[in-house]
Amino acid sequence: MQVKSIAGHELTPGKTVKDHIHVEGTELHVPHVLLCGQQPGATVLISAGIHNAEYVGIQAAIELSNELDVSELRGNVILLPLANRSGFENRTMSMVFEDGKNLNRVFPGDREGSEADKLAHMLFEVFIRNVDAYIDLHSGDGYEALIPYAYYLGDTPAEETAKAMIACVNTKYYVRSRCRTGGAYNLASVHGIPSVLIERGQLSLFSREEIEADKADVRNILRCLGVLPGETVNYSKTQLLEYSDDAPCTGCWYPEKKVGDVFRKGEKLGEIRDYFGRSLFVEYAPQDGVLLHQCASLNIIEKGPMVTYGVPTDDII
Ligand SMILES: [Zn+2]
Repeated sequence: MQVKSIAGHELTPGKTVKDHIHVEGTELHVPHVLLCGQQPGATVLISAGIHNAEYVGIQAAIELSNELDVSELRGNVILLPLANRSGFENRTMSMVFEDGKNLNRVFPGDREGSEADKLAHMLFEVFIRNVDAYIDLHSGDGYEALIPYAYYLGDTPAEETAKAMIACVNTKYYVRSRCRTGGAYNLASVHGIPSVLIERGQLSLFSREEIEADKADVRNILRCLGVLPGETVNYSKTQLLEYSDDAPCTGCWYPEKKVGDVFRKGEKLGEIRDYFGRSLFVEYAPQDGVLLHQCASLNIIEKGPMVTYGVPTDDII
């Protein structure tokens, strides 16, 4: 795809744009950066802050927008460093401030819906559907412990390229997702755009090491796509199928395992107790797996995230 303009800006060789785009029918404005390479090539979108309290990716995208050199690029790099800006400025735990919705559950959005729906609609129509490849940066939210790993969507036209992109990510595990709705990278993948989601960082914390690791992964993927010069490094990793158990009730949560722990079927993963310390529920591992992320706050909320684990397949990159 040779896209000529994005968000009203022509992609002229050598040009850099830093601007905000207004989301029609809302007070929302989304910062974006366009870096137009001197040479023709693929147009790659990098987004962060779809979950606004996942700071590693946000800071990595801000730094990349200043560090990538247009004279070096073949093609274009488009960065959305903070997709959910109002959530960030009101310090929500990653929900869109105005309507309380999880932006990464409402794609493709709806221009007639509430703020999150309108924002998702704009992000998809203006940015995502017009690019050749897509990288979405996430972390663990304020309540969420997490080990680094990456996702791509299986059974899509772009699966081979997405898998090549995943190989560039420096993590021990990757998930071949089966979720085709709601999320930005999921929808992009269904539309034939090779896409990956990188998870790194947890508990709404951020460190120099994690930011540099995100940036290194993005640069490595850009090399793989021919947008940056140089050799790609491939990192061997184990494929997982992902399973999530949401909390069956609200209360106090006492996890038994740490993220990254490997467990066997039947092992205790955690317990929910009431405010008098009485047991309400015990979570036992339904199958063998590795713990990818889990609730790390004392409070746990009915139907909210509790544990997410991966089950290894035979497929190793
Ligand atoms: Zn996220």
